[in-house]
Amino acid sequence: MDGGGGFWQGEKPASHPQIHTMILPKSNRLTPEQVAEVTAIVGEFGCSIQPIVGAVRTIYAIVGDERDELMINRLEGLSFVDRIDRIQSPFRLMDRRSDLSSHRIRIGGVTLGEDLAIIAGQCTIDPKNPNYFLETAVAVKEAGAHVLRGGVWKPRTNPYAFQGDSKSIEILMEASRITGLPVDAEVMDEEQLQVALDAGVHMLQVGARNALNYSLLRSIGRAVAKRDTIVLLKRSLHMGSLSEFISAAEYIAAFGNPNVILCPRGTAPALDGYRNHPDESITPLLKEKTWAPVVIDPSHSVGKASYVPACALAAVAYGADGLCIEAHVSPSQGIGDDPKQALTPAVLADTIAQAKQIWSLRHGAVGRG
Ligand code: PEP
Ligand code: MN
Repeated sequence: MDGGGGFWQGEKPASHPQIHTMILPKSNRLTPEQVAEVTAIVGEFGCSIQPIVGAVRTIYAIVGDERDELMINRLEGLSFVDRIDRIQSPFRLMDRRSDLSSHRIRIGGVTLGEDLAIIAGQCTIDPKNPNYFLETAVAVKEAGAHVLRGGVWKPRTNPYAFQGDSKSIEILMEASRITGLPVDAEVMDEEQLQVALDAGVHMLQVGARNALNYSLLRSIGRAVAKRDTIVLLKRSLHMGSLSEFISAAEYIAAFGNPNVILCPRGTAPALDGYRNHPDESITPLLKEKTWAPVVIDPSHSVGKASYVPACALAAVAYGADGLCIEAHVSPSQGIGDDPKQALTPAVLADTIAQAKQIWSLRHGAVGRG
């Protein structure tokens, strides 16, 4: 894996140093002693300083591979430095301008970015009633889903609530065999990761609660490095900037498998009446920064079946590449989130049909946004 600057080399102009990071002093210019101090620091990291002299103010470009976090931290710690401005993206792989920008993810017969991808299925597989899941699998396929979702292990706020069951992995894979659909399941630790990979799960979901769990992200990145497994990375409620979200994807891709999909699923604070604050509107912002496909999860965003179709359609209007929707043949008999937010197969089919119309409007007239 190229963990260094290789992906950027093609962009370097032949004769001018590439400048990405600037030191902005508190005063109009640094004293010669201050210049010597910053020169010594950047020199330790193989970089040099180039002053850019303005009429009033001088700023100082760092020339060289200036991405070392420690160097930046040391410069930011200097009392005479106001701030460090970075022009270069911190994402070597997930950046929209990286060499991976033409990478396409294909699953269930669709190529993300070229067709609207639909992931659908139950929140939670009930191991005591496997037939519900098997029936749901067939129904979501008929409704137009390309990937079947099913929660085997569940992150639950209440420690006494049903936590999932490894036995459900067999039900998930049985549903995959019956329908021919690839399957998506959330994993929360290394043991579950191994069980899911051994069983042949095609898409691993990193849930909102674990999207900032860097050691899990690394374990997943390492485990999928030599496979074509896809990772659906949910947006954490605790993520600040969009860069934090994309950086989490970079953690996985850095090990060598760039098949990472970003999945906004509603954020905090909850909008009165909705489960979370719907965040499908960040899709165009994400697309400005990263080439990664964006699949919106309207189910966890609004948290109630009657609001899900509108959120799903809005997501496609905002330019989403796909939708991840909870659905159940008989929501009231479901467990986990299904009784409150799962769509029936009929509503799912209508929602997919309408979403496809919006997709065609955007992609026929406007093109990929
Ligand atoms: C889920 O997909 O059922 C789930 C728990 O999602 P999230 O991590 O987004 O809450
Ligand atoms: Mn759920």
